[in-house]
Amino acid sequence: MAFNRSTMIELLEGVRTFEQDVYPEKEQLFRNLAYHQNPATLFITCADSRISPPMITQTEPGELFLIRNVGNIVPAYGINIGSTSSAIEYAVAVLKVKNIIICGHSNCGAMSALMDLDSPKMRKLSTIRRWLCNAEAARASLVDIDPEHPTPEMIRALTEANVRLQLAHLRTHPSVAAALARRELAIEGWYYDIPNGRLRVLDLLEDSTISVDEAIRELREQQSDSANAPAISGHICHPHDHHGHR
Ligand SMILES: [Zn+2]
Repeated sequence: MAFNRSTMIELLEGVRTFEQDVYPEKEQLFRNLAYHQNPATLFITCADSRISPPMITQTEPGELFLIRNVGNIVPAYGINIGSTSSAIEYAVAVLKVKNIIICGHSNCGAMSALMDLDSPKMRKLSTIRRWLCNAEAARASLVDIDPEHPTPEMIRALTEANVRLQLAHLRTHPSVAAALARRELAIEGWYYDIPNGRLRVLDLLEDSTISVDEAIRELREQQSDSANAPAISGHICHPHDHHGHR
């Protein structure tokens, strides 16, 4: 047999289950979404099949505007006008999302590839190799890396460096820069660990991460501080004031 029909059958059976069992329970939600969307968050992550943004964040359809690509990469503005840049502009300028998350993950194949772009294997993958040039500065920023013997710790360090780099690229997009300047947008970097199901939030000032509980506590403190400051009512406060605008 030239191709395997069973996986396609499984997919269609999944659709049937959705239509028969899942949709009826959420019919009103889907009807409300029929003609418009109003997502609060642009979520940028890797195309990797092991990451389910709605599952990780426990969100419903309509809540996350998603960009997925190899290595959760955001080309700097003007370099690579394409699907990622267009989706960012639409999310920020038209949908007016309040948050942008860039989420890297453990055991990322793109990060392993980035370790050694000149390897014989990568030389054959010319499209990916060119795409990963958008992340090369993350690789260059890490010292003490042995590309031929990458450890999980090295891959993790590179993944976090890449998220930081892509957040910097994100700020070069005019729509993002404008929304940040108006303090209408918050941006965060996340690291998702697949086997543990644990997420860490990158501290954008320090070269470290904080737990989800710590991140929530920090945001709540900033929320109560801003509630006492009348000048910013009516505007979305940048949750990480001390992290942003660098
Ligand atoms: Zn990946």
